[in-house]
Amino acid sequence: MPTIHAYAAQNATTPLAPHDIQRREPGNHDVEIDILYCGVCHSDIHQARNEWGNSIFPMVPGHEIVGKVTRVGSHVKKFKAGDLAGVGCLVDSCRECRNCKEGLEQFCEAGAVGTYNAYERDGKTPTYGGYSTRIVVDEDFTLKIPSNLDLAAVAPLLCAGITTYSPLRYWKVGKGHKVGVLGLGGLGHMAVKLAASFGAEVTMLSHTASKEADARRLGAHHFVLTSNEELLNKHKNYFDFIIDTVSAPHDYNIYLNLLRTNGTMICVGAPPAPAQVPAFNLIMNRRSIGGSLIGGLPETQEMLDYCGEHNIVSDIELIPIQQINTAYDRMLKGDVKYRFVIDIASLKS
Ligand code: NAP
Ligand code: ZN
Ligand code: ZN
Repeated sequence: MPTIHAYAAQNATTPLAPHDIQRREPGNHDVEIDILYCGVCHSDIHQARNEWGNSIFPMVPGHEIVGKVTRVGSHVKKFKAGDLAGVGCLVDSCRECRNCKEGLEQFCEAGAVGTYNAYERDGKTPTYGGYSTRIVVDEDFTLKIPSNLDLAAVAPLLCAGITTYSPLRYWKVGKGHKVGVLGLGGLGHMAVKLAASFGAEVTMLSHTASKEADARRLGAHHFVLTSNEELLNKHKNYFDFIIDTVSAPHDYNIYLNLLRTNGTMICVGAPPAPAQVPAFNLIMNRRSIGGSLIGGLPETQEMLDYCGEHNIVSDIELIPIQQINTAYDRMLKGDVKYRFVIDIASLKS
């Protein structure tokens, strides 16, 4: 099996460091991809630090992968060597359950296989993510990349893009809706861009005052600093939807109270600690709390095609992999504009 350079976390407390891994030779249905760029998701930090309690070490994070196809298996139809290709959060699923048949592979009843921090369907081969030079993935879990977009800035669409696109589509968010986006990081900035492009009125709810100008440039119509109680009070019973992208524990009730009748708070941020919600905050105004997990393969392709047609990409800071630990520290302070993307060339030299 070919040896591949990567960066890995050896345990929950030591910084990421160089680490070689092995990948399978491409099988009949596989696509081998030379990775060019990989986005840095806050889920990488949660998992590298075992904050969700399910980490498998050594761990090579990374599930926002864009690269070039080097080889394909004999049965592969969608790709040939030289094509651009993307890989998101999933690399396999059972393909037989109701959810898989509906293109909701993320909810596979047998358990979808994550791009990293998971085991292949054999139950024993660990999966390794995109902080590496190459990956081998079944073509059914490999995405087509629009050719008109900046490749490094496309990478974050594979998680931050689909994670916000999917709930906005599911809840049919568009013209006439007032949407609040809580947290301006990787997911938040994509939620702003996408919700605005769907015609909704978008309000950025952020705890960082210095992000106001950027929020407006990204497409937000209004900006509310969440520490400003007076301004928050003015938005009581205001929003049809709030998309909560915050990675750290926070009080959901403050934001539930901003929802109007029949309003929905959509949780995509995944803080490690549970939230407490009194029933009265839902009973009043018939409010709901929902959640959403990334997106299935057909919808991920639909999102990429939509972004190609509408020229939507992520706002990124391109970094060499040697800066990954500093990037994690900055993200923990909410200091990222608005997605770090690793230039994988830095791992090859
Ligand atoms: P990120 O880039 O680090 O952004 C998180 C944002 O949360 C920050 O920029 C900050 O925005 C805000 N925030 C509010 N309170 C904070 C605090 N005390 N400390 C730090 N930040 C705070 O993270 P991300 O990559 O967008 O991911 C966000 C969350 O979504 C993570 O929990 C991640 O695991 C989860 N996620 C879920 C899915 C899914 O399928 N549901 C997919 C991907 C990621 P302001 O400065 O504007 O307040
Ligand atoms: Zn992610
Ligand atoms: Zn399934």
